[in-house]
Amino acid sequence: MILVKNAMTQNVYHLSLENSISELIDLMSERGIGSIVIVNKEQKPVQIFTLRDIPKIFSANLKDNKINTLLSVLRKDEKDLIKVKPNQHLIVAMNLMNQNNISHLPVVNKENKLVGILSMRDLLRHFPGIVFTDPLTQVNNRMYLDIIRAKIEKSNVKLCILMIDIDNFKNINDKYGHLVGDLVLKEIAKIIRTSIKTYDELIRYGGEEFLVILYRCDIKNLTSIGERIRNSLKKIKFTKYKNLSVTVSIGGYAYNSEGDIYEGIKKADQAMYQAKIAGKDRLILWK
Ligand code: GH3
Ligand code: MG
Ligand code: MG
Repeated sequence: MILVKNAMTQNVYHLSLENSISELIDLMSERGIGSIVIVNKEQKPVQIFTLRDIPKIFSANLKDNKINTLLSVLRKDEKDLIKVKPNQHLIVAMNLMNQNNISHLPVVNKENKLVGILSMRDLLRHFPGIVFTDPLTQVNNRMYLDIIRAKIEKSNVKLCILMIDIDNFKNINDKYGHLVGDLVLKEIAKIIRTSIKTYDELIRYGGEEFLVILYRCDIKNLTSIGERIRNSLKKIKFTKYKNLSVTVSIGGYAYNSEGDIYEGIKKADQAMYQAKIAGKDRLILWK
């Protein structure tokens, strides 16, 4: 398991509340430093500024040049600041960045003192594969498709494509809340992953759509694999939500390396749409 401390940068540029805003701007714009952490007397981080904040800093109407004044005008205090600990899993940090749309996280020790900073750039440098992973479900994301595309189109292999879309997912979110919706997505990804071979591909293609690429598969076994996945997803139980169950509509297409894989995906998608029209909770193969 990879931890925050394995990826973080230990040298953090920081300023105190007593420093001036000019120093802050100078570090960022003149010296090109991407993020500056503001610490209090106890070296505890109270705020972080990144290049994105510069317009906000310029437009704040201030009576003096102190960082402290800036923070009070922006109404930012320590409580708003999202931090991570060195021993937390990197996945947790990634999810925080994703959910809050932030690119930098201060890293603090047990005493809440600043010990490092974790940036999106750190993540990419240490774990380039992270770019191709969906943080919620931990399966590959759509960008990964571009990576395997060339391989697929060159290799002349037979493969099958399944487009899986959760039925009435909006209702699940509306009835149980978004967090339960997220839980459903995670569980579905997990079950699909265990229903296919390790060398097969699973991609979160859209919000509640999963794309499966099955190698060594042809039209003869496509139906049985698709139905197997559909039935295992139907059996998912959520201990806390007894009445919650999910069904999916699946479109299938047997691709014969006839060119653009995206054309094949389009056909699987059209078949999935047919399955929706026909009443959902079913598999339809492209004709
Ligand atoms: P259909 O049976 O026709 O597919 O209906 P649907 O409700 O599943 O489809 P629709 O496209 O209307 O809604 C998809 C919903 O998926 C809406 C969106 O809020 C939800 N969604 C997309 N991504 C996420 C996510 O990451 N988490 C959660 N909780 N919901 C998501
Ligand atoms: Mg959909
Ligand atoms: Mg849906």
